Amino acid sequence: MKKITLEKVREMDRIDPFRGKREEFLLPEGIIYLDGNSLGALPKAVRLRIRDVTENEWGQSLIAGWDKHGWVALPGKVGDKIARLIGAKQGEVVVTESTSINLFKAVTAALQVGPKRGTILTEKGNFPADLYVLDAIARESGGKVKIKRVAREDLIASLTDEIAILCLTHANYKTSVRHDMAALTRRAREAGAMTIWDLSHSAGALPVDLNGCGADFAIGCGYKFLNGGPGGSGYIFVAARHQNKILPALAGWMGHVRPFDFSSDYQPVSGIARQLTGTPFVIGAAALDAALEVFDGVDMEAVGEKAGKLGDLFIGLVEAECPEMKLACPREATGRTSQVTFTYPEAQKIMAEVVKRGVVADFRPPDVMRFGLAPLYNSYEDVYRAVLTLKEIFKQ
Ligand SMILES: *Cc1c(COP(=O)(O)O)cnc(C)c1O
Repeated sequence: MKKITLEKVREMDRIDPFRGKREEFLLPEGIIYLDGNSLGALPKAVRLRIRDVTENEWGQSLIAGWDKHGWVALPGKVGDKIARLIGAKQGEVVVTESTSINLFKAVTAALQVGPKRGTILTEKGNFPADLYVLDAIARESGGKVKIKRVAREDLIASLTDEIAILCLTHANYKTSVRHDMAALTRRAREAGAMTIWDLSHSAGALPVDLNGCGADFAIGCGYKFLNGGPGGSGYIFVAARHQNKILPALAGWMGHVRPFDFSSDYQPVSGIARQLTGTPFVIGAAALDAALEVFDGVDMEAVGEKAGKLGDLFIGLVEAECPEMKLACPREATGRTSQVTFTYPEAQKIMAEVVKRGVVADFRPPDVMRFGLAPLYNSYEDVYRAVLTLKEIFKQ
């Protein structure tokens, strides 16, 4: 590989179609932030919106805000914004609750509308929180539901006629491996199984085409590459064909056809709003709404391309400058997520030092170093400087 210079990476930034986007975020001085896969940076628009929704909407309108400021409609409105980023139609996504709770909703719904089978297929290395929810559903089912965890390479062969649901995370949080959503969804459909995709690590950083793949359900997190703020609302996608067949396991008044009638009998509303349970957290939904403005007019294919290039540069530089680090993610950009992963026996020590020097990235036990690359606000120069910092630490 030809030596990569600071001049060269600055040239890459100069022609980057997203070079103006960084300005839309508030990033602390002197920090290179490579942790947007855990907590997205703050879009400047969020600050203003939070101020407005508290001081003006809540502060001045009080209870009239529900109508006056469209608070009731907000979860659906924000869901529609996310829909464009993940290949869903308007009315197929709603913002509500955390990812874990939405996973519970999606699994219980898929068990209802899917084939009368009892096994949920997932991957051994799936996100732990998702595995906990799956196991809890099995435990509560009185033996009717079983969870089958297999290695990634055994997924296809395990899609037999006993599988009710294939439940996977699109982009793996640890290995940075990206599943082939189209191929796996197709195979699941051929086997008669429902699909649930967790998009927490892909939405906002990579192109996702749920309807193009024929996916049934999806869920995801609002605070990673969507930058909705710590603990902000997640979202759920239900393909239009299933929406009105579901009787929600977490039935709630916000999913009632006439919530303000306070009828003693539950009668679900049509459409995606049926997935709502309780009163929406308006401040959180407003933050996510404002955060999503940075995606206005943004082509997600181009976002994915930049993610790939940032990762390619990172890998190339590490291999040239820090041969101690072992590549632990796919080399091919299309097989990778928007983070690069390496291993090193003393990763914990190195990462602590890296953070001390202003490069924020993270460590996962026992020896994993993760660098999240957010295409909208990370530059090629960020990558160059981060690897230079690693090199200095290794040389000591
Ligand atoms: C971040 C993440 C979650 C987080 O779930 P919460 O309920 O929002 O805390 C769940 N699943 C995956 C795959 C994630 O990456």
